Amino acid sequence: MNRARIARMPGRVAERIAAGEVVERPAAVVKELIENALDAGAGEIEVRVLKGGKHLIEVADDGCGIDPEDLPLVFERHATSKLADESDLERLVTFGFRGEALASIAAAAEVTLVTRIPERPDAVELVSHPEHGARAPRPGARRPGTTVRVEHLFGHLPARRKFMRTDATELQRIRDLLRGFAVAHPERGLRFYAGDRLQWNLSPGSLDDRLAALYPDLRFLVADYETPRHRITARISHPHEHRGSPQDLHLLVNRRIVRDPLLRKAVQQAYERVLPPGRWPLGAVFIDLDPALVDVNVHPAKTEIRFLNPGGMFAELRDRLAAALREGRTPPGMGNPQEPDRLVDASPPPAADVADSGAAWPSSRRGRSGLSGPGPTLPGWSMPDGAREGPSKQGDMAPPDARDHADWSPDLQPLGAIGQRYLLFREGDALVMLDQHAAHERVRYDRIIAALEAGQAPLQELLTPAVWQPEPEELAGWRIGHDWLARAGFPVEDFGPETLRLRAVPIWFRGNPLQAVRDTLRELGRIGSSEALGRQAHDVAAGLACRGAILSGRNVPLAEQLELLRQLRETPGADTCPHGRPTWRRIEPAELDRWFGRS
Ligand code: ADP
Ligand code: MG
Repeated sequence: MNRARIARMPGRVAERIAAGEVVERPAAVVKELIENALDAGAGEIEVRVLKGGKHLIEVADDGCGIDPEDLPLVFERHATSKLADESDLERLVTFGFRGEALASIAAAAEVTLVTRIPERPDAVELVSHPEHGARAPRPGARRPGTTVRVEHLFGHLPARRKFMRTDATELQRIRDLLRGFAVAHPERGLRFYAGDRLQWNLSPGSLDDRLAALYPDLRFLVADYETPRHRITARISHPHEHRGSPQDLHLLVNRRIVRDPLLRKAVQQAYERVLPPGRWPLGAVFIDLDPALVDVNVHPAKTEIRFLNPGGMFAELRDRLAAALREGRTPPGMGNPQEPDRLVDASPPPAADVADSGAAWPSSRRGRSGLSGPGPTLPGWSMPDGAREGPSKQGDMAPPDARDHADWSPDLQPLGAIGQRYLLFREGDALVMLDQHAAHERVRYDRIIAALEAGQAPLQELLTPAVWQPEPEELAGWRIGHDWLARAGFPVEDFGPETLRLRAVPIWFRGNPLQAVRDTLRELGRIGSSEALGRQAHDVAAGLACRGAILSGRNVPLAEQLELLRQLRETPGADTCPHGRPTWRRIEPAELDRWFGRS
């Protein structure tokens, strides 16, 4: 074997190897350049890419610029203006601090940097080549700020070039990244060109404006709160909207985009039993806290973080978001149709991955504060006549505030049913459709959960108690689950040898009680232990809610339809069934107009 000698690498080789760690693809370059622009205090940022960023990435900002005296250092590794001494590492407030990005990019591509500080009338241009290094600075022209142009990424590194995907894929990654920055920094303007085409032109504004511009069809619910340690500002999607990945769930810790698994899980758990399994909500969760309480230094790309007290943060976030889902508060002034930003030529999201958002939902649900108590759930179902008059360019984006003041008197007019599945109602000019089974299931499920939480349920005694001899599996289920069942409102008693007795059911219960209870006992028997029941209680409750709920394929008499409506209104989180499917939809006249080409 040929043993080679150990030697130090030539500096340039080491540079090029290291470059791949920071900039492994065009989106990574964009990320570093945007972060530099943000650190420079830019108010407007313009991004331009060609061929998915492989040919060109250009980021221009109106930030503080770079002092000509510092220019010789910009492409140097570990040269930064953001870290004076070690103690700064404990309280990072800038996005950059490693002083590596420009050095890595310059090792991987041709870079042209034009910069001007406001104090000077002229700009300076610096050109660098991955093999020949930087040329001497030249005078250039620019308004104050900095433009960094990165051309032919990995042009000299065929091995790395191979790892880039198609132009379209790289462009998609850049777009996803920019969407994150756009959400994280609504107070900064962002323009984005791909080729010659202006993709977005986002003017500075509020978070709600920015979300409306990026996600024009979506409505978000508000969950803002503050503790002594941190402040949370959250806008999370209505349960009718979800995606197959957490891509559009923007988590921001001190404005830094993070992909923290723990935070993601907290959000996902808030939506448990509200979204179908495996689906993700959309939205933005800002966590602002003392920088000393998080460590962003964990991951080189700085997308993972470490909280000092992760457990407390987790449970609190989950519970607060879950509460926000029940409350259904929409942002004040949201949907105000005054000149909202619009994406120009926003590419359509992949169709298969987007929950159908054709129909809108009634806006925020419960009455305000404690005034109406646990009151009605579905707002706008009883809009007073004329409340929705006036020009609303956005149809279903009418100001939600108007609907919050609806008086909730049930004036939906039943129109009939179709397919023995969907109940139709007229609400003013809108059409409201209910999935009869899903709706009833949700109502029953919530009552079971409420009873379990309260430890008891209002009961009705059966006229003749049901007495039966259980099968072994039912008996096994009874042993581990009779307490649970009793709390849920189904007291099943030991009634002599091998005999059980059911004497009462919850007052809301309709259907065949014995059948529902025996099926549930069998399910409990299969679960096998009380620990497992603890974990699967929600599934058992969902099963119990399903048994005896109005079935699809049944004609529902009018009185029952109205009863279902009434119950649904009183049910928190009534928008989806326990499996996450929508219980109802509203179709606005504007939507109908679109169908018929009238808008
Ligand atoms: P870091 O951001 O970690 O400091 P970089 O390599 O990204 O390292 O940048 C090196 C230095 O160049 C920064 O510390 C900053 O002083 C300067 N710089 C880079 N981009 C800009 C910009 N757009 N505006 C002003 N200064 C910049
Ligand atoms: Mg940087």
